[in-house]
Amino acid sequence: MQLSLVLPCYNEEEVLEETAKKLLSLYENLIELSKISSHSKIYFIDDGSNDKTWDIIETLSNKYEYFSGIKLSRNFGHQNALLSGLLTVDGDAVISIDADLQDDTSMIEKMIDQYNNGSEIVYGVKLNREADSIFKRTTAKGFYKIMHLMGVNVVYNHADFRLLSRNVIDHLKEFKEVNLFLRGLVPLIGYTSSTVSYDISERTAGISKYSLRKMLSFAWNGISSLSVTPLRFITTIGFILFISTLGLTLHSLWVALFTDDAVPGWASTVLPIYFLGGVQILSIGIIGEYIGKIYLEIKARPRYIIEKTI
Ligand code: UDP
Ligand code: MG
Repeated sequence: MQLSLVLPCYNEEEVLEETAKKLLSLYENLIELSKISSHSKIYFIDDGSNDKTWDIIETLSNKYEYFSGIKLSRNFGHQNALLSGLLTVDGDAVISIDADLQDDTSMIEKMIDQYNNGSEIVYGVKLNREADSIFKRTTAKGFYKIMHLMGVNVVYNHADFRLLSRNVIDHLKEFKEVNLFLRGLVPLIGYTSSTVSYDISERTAGISKYSLRKMLSFAWNGISSLSVTPLRFITTIGFILFISTLGLTLHSLWVALFTDDAVPGWASTVLPIYFLGGVQILSIGIIGEYIGKIYLEIKARPRYIIEKTI
C-alpha cells in the first residue's frame, strides 16, 4: 500500500526539522515491516509562510526521496491548505496530520491496520487534552456540544488527524464548497469508518497558529456551512414573539375597554421597541451571515492556489 502523509505548515520553521526526523524514522520502520510501499511520500504544504518554512521543505525534499512540498501562493488557512494536499497527492490512502505533531504518530500504524481491515476512513480521536490550555479545552468542548445541538454530525474530539482512502478522496473532490469545514464534510461521504484514540502531547516548539479570531471564525464556519438551525431559531423567536404580542394586545384592549386601570405607561411603549429592534437586528445579522456565505459560494473562487510543487 502506498501511503501519503499531508502536513499543512504555516510558519513552522521551529518544529519542521524535528517533525521530519520523526516521520522519517517512522516511514523507514513502516517500510521495513512492509506496511507501506517504499514509494510512499510525505507532503509538506506551505500555507504561505513568511519564515524559513519553504526553505526547510526544499532542503528536506532534496535530501530525502520521501519528502515533497507543495507551496501555496499565499496563506489560505489550515482547512484550505489541508484540502490542497488531499486533492493533489497520490497514494492508496492519505493521512492528514498537523505539522507540530501534537497528535500521536504511533497511531499511523494503527490507522493503516484498520484501513487494511476495510475502513475507508479512520478518525484520530483525542482522549486526553491535558496538553492543551484550559481555555482551548473548554471552548473545544462547548464547540462540539453546540455542533451536536445544531444537528451537525462531527466525531467528538476528532480534529484533522485522519486517514482517507482513495475512494473517499475521489468523492471529497465532488464537494465544491468554498466555506470549508473538513471534519463536518468527511462524515457526509459515508463508507465504513473507524477510530483510533490517543492522548495529545504539547507542541515541541513554536506557538499555536490558531489565534482566537481564527478559532472563532473556524467555529462559526463549521456551524453555518453545515447547519441551518440558526435561521430556524430566528423563525422560532419571531413566531413566539408574534403570539405573545397578540396575547398582550388582547389583554391591553380588555384593560382599556373594561377597567379603569389603563395608565399609558412609558415602559410598555419604549421597552418593546428596543427589544424588537434588538431581535430584528440580530435576525438580519444572522441572515446576512448566510447570504454572505451564498455570495462566496456563488463566486466559486479557487479554494487554494498552488505556486509550485517539489
Ligand atoms: N496552519 C496552516 N495555516 C494557518 C494556520 C495553521 O496551515 O493559517 C497549520 C499549522 O502549521 C499546523 C496546523 O495548521 O500544522 C494546526 O495549527 P496549530 O497547531 O497552530 O493549531 P492548534 O493545534 O493550536 O489548534
Ligand atoms: Mg497544534
